[in-house]
Amino acid sequence: MNSYFNFEDTYTNLPKCFFTEQEIKKVSLPGLVIFNDKLAKSLNINIPSNDKSEMAKILSGNFNDKKMNTYAQAYAGHQFGHFTNLGDGRAIMLGEHVSKCGKRYDIQLKGSGITPYSRRGDGKAALGPMLREYIISEAVHHLNIPTTRSLSVIKTGEDVFREKKLQGSILTRIASSHIRVGTFQYAAAQQDTKILRSLFDYTVKRHYSDIKNSEEISIKLLKEFSLKQINLIINWMRVGFIHGVMNTDNMTLSGETIDYGPCAFMNSYDPNTKFSSIDHMGRYSYKNQPIIAQWNIARFAETLLPLISSDLNEAIKKAEDVIKSMPETYKTNWLNMMKKKLGLIDNDSEDENIINSLLSWMEKNNADFTNTFVDLMNEENLDQSIYKSQEFKSWFKIYKKRKLSKNFSKSKSLKLMKENNPIIIPRNHIVENVLSSAEERDLNPLKKFLKVLENPYDNNVKIPSYFKIDIKSDQPYMTFCGT
Ligand code: AMP
Ligand code: MG
Repeated sequence: MNSYFNFEDTYTNLPKCFFTEQEIKKVSLPGLVIFNDKLAKSLNINIPSNDKSEMAKILSGNFNDKKMNTYAQAYAGHQFGHFTNLGDGRAIMLGEHVSKCGKRYDIQLKGSGITPYSRRGDGKAALGPMLREYIISEAVHHLNIPTTRSLSVIKTGEDVFREKKLQGSILTRIASSHIRVGTFQYAAAQQDTKILRSLFDYTVKRHYSDIKNSEEISIKLLKEFSLKQINLIINWMRVGFIHGVMNTDNMTLSGETIDYGPCAFMNSYDPNTKFSSIDHMGRYSYKNQPIIAQWNIARFAETLLPLISSDLNEAIKKAEDVIKSMPETYKTNWLNMMKKKLGLIDNDSEDENIINSLLSWMEKNNADFTNTFVDLMNEENLDQSIYKSQEFKSWFKIYKKRKLSKNFSKSKSLKLMKENNPIIIPRNHIVENVLSSAEERDLNPLKKFLKVLENPYDNNVKIPSYFKIDIKSDQPYMTFCGT
């Protein structure tokens, strides 16, 4: 395998409780569905892209390499607020690939069979959800948002049983690492500071090497991590992305978006939007994402307490100070992001009002979140009927006045807007259509769509069907974990 990847494992130097070696079971008839050539090249992964059957064997784990120590990682997590022991129940780590520029990536097969952490699951995945993860993770990457990525999807030739019989599939996930808040929760639950310390040191070395010599390094990590997560969530809010299952095991220390289960993009602006069929209370709705991030980071902070100070009260006080400061940082950074979406340069005391009035108008009028900002970038689009109301016109007058004041520069303002307002997002109805075709063996719509998603900010795309909303699809859209 080292002729394809440059494997060099470090995670397996952690104490044994963090993983279990797990051989990959061969699948009956591996077949390549999609391979991310550009990603492979950019990471110096040398899988021979002219030999589809060889590719399918490699990417399904159907290879004989006795030197490979593949394994599943242990972790815990709060799922919808309840603490559970979890672990990779349907994912197996192939190894850590180091690219030519020295960056380290986990290469993981998702859907490759049972592991010691599978609980009652079958360790398998179905084609639809794996292709969905491929589409959305790649879209999120091209939207310039940190995320795990997708190298390939293969079909196993085996059936997977959910509500009905589905085609078995394996996705190759690429991640800066799979260290989760849940991994720290698992370490803390071992009640052995040495174990916790080993994960802490490993994480600092792998993702936060800049702080390695800091005083109060545990608090420093907490601050840096919370900032990474705040900025991640702000990016999600910027493009209307709703993750849908922000359990603590689905929050990475690297700050990458992970676990594309029931996620989807919002169409009409409604802060209460949620898509997941199992999120009955809307815990992970659009507007709750920053609050949940803070809740998750508080759970992370709890795991660090023994490392922060030997005096528990002092440790709690220091951790609480960081957690309590999060809403203010979020608000400042969120305002900056929204100002960019509106092309507002410098600061004005009215900015927050201008932003909030627009959002409340959008909510009242079911305005499309993405297209409203696209139309504001192209004022000729404002002759559509939705913008004819007095309320919008008054808002627009105030906005325009503010925009033209304060060191206005047309090119700078438009550049900010173009960089922050995608015109293309993976619209739910298109995702569903291309997945249906793919399940019927027609991959062309999927491939065409992926190509368009590579340039979400490219204003010259003239394929209306990709950026126009489908009114029917705005009716309650529901996503399923697909596990
Ligand atoms: P998720 O909802 O994808 O974050 O998964 C939560 C937990 O369930 C993780 O420990 C997964 O590895 C596990 N899991 C999800 N699907 C399956 C499956 N089909 N078989 C075994 N474990 C699974
Ligand atoms: Mg998960």
